[in-house]
Amino acid sequence: MKATGTDGIEAVTRRARELIPPDGVVTDPARLRTYECDGLAHYRVVPALVVMPEDADQLAGVVRACAEHRVPYVARGSGTGLSGGALPHAEGVLVVTSKMRSITDVRPADQRAVVQPGVINLDVTRAAAPHGYYYAPDPSSQQICSIGGNVAENSGGAHCLKYGFTTNHVLGADFVTADGEVVRLGGDAPDSPGYDLLGAVVGSEGTLGIVTSATLRLVRLPEEVRTILVGFESTDHAGAAVSAIIAAGIVPAAIEMMDALAIEAAEEAVHCNYPEGAGAVLVIELDGAAVEVAAEYDEVDRLCRENGSFEQRVATDPAERALIWKGRKSAFAAVGRISPDYIVQDGVIPRTALPEVLAAIAELSRTSGVRVANVFHAGDGNLHPLVLFDEEHEGQAEAAEEVSGAILDLCIEHGGSITGEHGVGMDKAKYMPRMYDADDLDTMQLVRCAFDPDGISNPGKVFPTPRLCGEVPGRHKGAHPLQDAGVAEVF
Ligand SMILES: Cc1cc2nc3c(=O)[nH]c(=O)nc-3n(C[C@H](O)[C@H](O)[C@H](O)COP(=O)(O)OP(=O)(O)OC[C@H]3O[C@@H](n4cnc5c(N)ncnc54)[C@H](O)[C@@H]3O)c2cc1C
Repeated sequence: MKATGTDGIEAVTRRARELIPPDGVVTDPARLRTYECDGLAHYRVVPALVVMPEDADQLAGVVRACAEHRVPYVARGSGTGLSGGALPHAEGVLVVTSKMRSITDVRPADQRAVVQPGVINLDVTRAAAPHGYYYAPDPSSQQICSIGGNVAENSGGAHCLKYGFTTNHVLGADFVTADGEVVRLGGDAPDSPGYDLLGAVVGSEGTLGIVTSATLRLVRLPEEVRTILVGFESTDHAGAAVSAIIAAGIVPAAIEMMDALAIEAAEEAVHCNYPEGAGAVLVIELDGAAVEVAAEYDEVDRLCRENGSFEQRVATDPAERALIWKGRKSAFAAVGRISPDYIVQDGVIPRTALPEVLAAIAELSRTSGVRVANVFHAGDGNLHPLVLFDEEHEGQAEAAEEVSGAILDLCIEHGGSITGEHGVGMDKAKYMPRMYDADDLDTMQLVRCAFDPDGISNPGKVFPTPRLCGEVPGRHKGAHPLQDAGVAEVF
């Protein structure tokens, strides 16, 4: 194994130039700067080299060179990630998949599509729709984010309540390991025998290797879709309606909630015409066979009224449906209209804890003086508190950061998690020890080491302290307890 350093990156650059056409190898400092951050812009690192391979062979060749010279690399799809997962390494290579955007195959007969990693999420649905199918996981960023990024983050979206997250829709993947080998994980069939290595890769945030092709499950377009906008006096009432709907055995395609501050921002930005004076709105979508949707609608309508709704509107045409969703899907960006700076937080709680956690967030906001707008996937308890501040005012950024961390503590206290869909990345690595003890983290690190013994694939992400595999040891100076027990081996 050769040493890392400028010699290493120069050798990888030379190899990349042999493999990839000239416009796919970027060394110009001004162009490199374009890639210095992802959607979490307050972390910025300029990479030493950017490559844009056109196929899996080119990509694998670059990774092989990285492995040979021990140069770290980071995969990047569209760079919309909100946890700093695609933040480059200053002495490493950023492998951008934006030239790998082919939809290789759409097979309606077995409900599959095979796509390259740079393919934009919504383009899968566009390709499948003429055949009567769509791709269900729908992050709000679906017009720009890539399938590779979705797989790496196990992305969710409004419709994941009924249809499941990305992991439920990826059946197979071509995958470049950290030593540059191309392997196939999973397959076309719903399940493969042996360890679920594909399951380990989905949600691994680029720390195990790079996906170069994904076989996706397509879902039949429903016969009917009914989108309902419901206004409530408060989030308590809206939360009670959500619980009542789920308790009645109805699983809507989506139930999204926005509070008054989020509604105000969305109104200013996209004039979505949400019910005036609402303390909270629910966007509820029912889909399926027409008779089933009609029956569910009657029940949902009744349960919302019983729980204090004061206005209910059903979209009567696609334009009205699009406007209802526009308000919800633009909420993150819209908050920029009412606050110069904000943190998009992402945490999960059991749905039943919603009223208690929302009250605690309101109390945090009141005592700290930091405004918090709430937008969330209410059906599956995935919160997105938007913590507002103005960097120009001394102390506000720190106060917002504190409130943001305290919200994650609330999620953990209530049996939830520090991220529902945006990932850990760089941003939340420091929160991992709040959820897991050192042995848990070391066990995860053993999995990582099995895929990437030299720790060159997206190093510094997800885990707070590098451990094992020759990395700087943390609290454990000796062998890991799993090693002592003969259960695991460090390579
Ligand atoms: C306005 C807005 C709304 C959003 N809404 C949602 C939402 O509703 N739900 C949701 O889940 N997320 C949401 N996100 C977050 C983000 O869009 C998703 O995490 C998305 O999956 C990232 O895709 P990307 O192509 O931009 O990935 P990037 O940001 O480029 O990368 C994300 C991570 O994936 C890794 N990666 C990228 N490509 C590969 C690959 N081929 N192989 C292995 N690893 C790879 C990177 O190293 C990084 O760790 C939102 C973001 C924005 C800006």
